[in-house]
Amino acid sequence: MPPPPVPRLRADVSGLPRYVPGRTAPSDLVDKLSSNENPYPPLPSVLAAMREELGRVNRYPDARSSELVADLSAGLAVPPEHLVPGTGSLGVTRDLLRAAAGDGDEVLFAWRSFEAYPLLVWATGATPVQIPLREERHDLEAMADAVTDRTRLILVCNPNNPTGTAVHRGELKRFLDRVPDDVLVVLDEAYREFVDDTDVPDGIALYRDSPNVAVLRTFSKAYGLARLRVGYAVAHPPVAAALRACTVPFGVSGLAQAAARASLKAEPELMERVQILVAERARVTRALRAAGWSVPVSQANFVWLRLGPHTPAFAAACEAAGVMVRPFGDEGVRITIGTPEENDHLLKIAGDWRV
Ligand code: PMP
Repeated sequence: MPPPPVPRLRADVSGLPRYVPGRTAPSDLVDKLSSNENPYPPLPSVLAAMREELGRVNRYPDARSSELVADLSAGLAVPPEHLVPGTGSLGVTRDLLRAAAGDGDEVLFAWRSFEAYPLLVWATGATPVQIPLREERHDLEAMADAVTDRTRLILVCNPNNPTGTAVHRGELKRFLDRVPDDVLVVLDEAYREFVDDTDVPDGIALYRDSPNVAVLRTFSKAYGLARLRVGYAVAHPPVAAALRACTVPFGVSGLAQAAARASLKAEPELMERVQILVAERARVTRALRAAGWSVPVSQANFVWLRLGPHTPAFAAACEAAGVMVRPFGDEGVRITIGTPEENDHLLKIAGDWRV
């Protein structure tokens, strides 16, 4: 018997790499420090806004998220037509890539960086060009050198996932001066709210002077709404319009819009939590270094241990002791900053660990 016919698909899709998400925790007893989530549950005011929205789920949401856009516009001092919300900043990244790059084009980014980048780039048909980090940081000189006339978009993850390192204002400005004006530079600032180094630029300040710069932000990390899937781009009108043309209609649910708006209202309270995590990041970094670990300066809600071949063994030891961390092959382990108790747990395991 011949095999049943199979639908014809794009020939290159079956070979695409797949995103490997952090596993869900097997039980509440396990501390999940593997997905850069915010350990704190939604505030009562955010829950109340969502509850109010629940009774309306028979209706489609506002396709343009107009009220959320108005709130963001006021808070960021950015015109509403420069703002494009989407299904998490991941969804916005995908749509921006589709708006800018296709077959035969190149998309540049540092490596290692956010593991979704190569997958999203391949799915557009463009070719990812990965420029190795230098001393755990973006090598912006090498990235500028790698621009060709096929380069359409450059992703700069600042701070970088998974190393936590951030590029500084001067180096980023020099880089932007070298990049041709017709190449879109996307500053992925998923972790912006955790930055405490004043030399790390606010991407929105840079975007104001550069028509080819777009900024990505998310409600998933500092605002603690990862499961709701809402993020946004800030971009000049031609880019924002092209991005809107590539988005899935109604991609941001009404629940997500309501929770994001309530979170903006509750910003002072939420930023207090962020400050606790930033203080914990400093404490965890100090304690790990004191115990002999080499830890790059992190500006995000995680730290990076380049353990090379010891990576799988360390991740397994953590898991056996009840903490999930995120191993990347035989490169290193990324550990999310959790509550003080979770961080103590991790520090105990790291302190006891021997190669
Ligand atoms: N960018 C970076 C650098 C990230 O680390 C993440 C999440 N891991 C995202 C974007 C995606 O976030 P969101 O939940 O907004 O899709």
